[in-house]
Amino acid sequence: MRVVLLGPPGAGKGTQAQIIAGHLGVPAISTGDIFRANVGGQTDLGREAKVYMDAGDLVPDAITVAMVTDRLAEPDAKAGYLLDGFPRTIAQGEKLRDNLAEAGQALDRVLELVVDEDELVRRLSGRRMLVDGEWVVRGDDDPETVRHRLEVYREQTAPLSGFYERAGLLSRIDAIGEIDEVTRRALEALGAADAMDDDPGDGPAGDPAED
Ligand code: AMP
Repeated sequence: MRVVLLGPPGAGKGTQAQIIAGHLGVPAISTGDIFRANVGGQTDLGREAKVYMDAGDLVPDAITVAMVTDRLAEPDAKAGYLLDGFPRTIAQGEKLRDNLAEAGQALDRVLELVVDEDELVRRLSGRRMLVDGEWVVRGDDDPETVRHRLEVYREQTAPLSGFYERAGLLSRIDAIGEIDEVTRRALEALGAADAMDDDPGDGPAGDPAED
């Protein structure tokens, strides 16, 4: 199954991506995580991406698409995947659709996690991530950058909601509530709610640092 998880920063995308992918038995592929790993490893890609990430801006489409295309060509993605944080622009969405079509493939569904903006600001201002055993504020989570990231989401990413709705692929999921409840809503939208009853409690614990 090929699934895209869409939603603003702070909607719980990272947490849900891991859990839902675990239930579906496919890898969760997070472009944010891949970029952060490259920044940490001080690769050329990481150095290039860091400037945009620190500012709360999107990394240019050409760089991001090339990176995702490589990742999706890896063997573990053959049977499907759950994309977390990609696509983030209409151009990325079109490229993904065209690349899949060339391979005779298509997305099965797009889940949009819906949370109102006040709640997002509240969540993002408080979140921390574990680095070398210490809880720290993510560099792009300071209030100014948070506001900017939400603006970028509204302007560049939110239009994907209509793009996928027109393609008949979109399911909107109310993402307020307990982690388990949101997972259940998402799996129901995928017609895979049974997966949750079969293997209760699997999947990694939610990481509040990831969206
Ligand atoms: P995330 O962890 O998904 O919030 O991503 C962190 C940062 O990585 C974003 O604020 C962007 O700078 C960059 N990024 C992640 N995914 C993408 C994407 N699909 N397109 C462009 N930039 C991205």
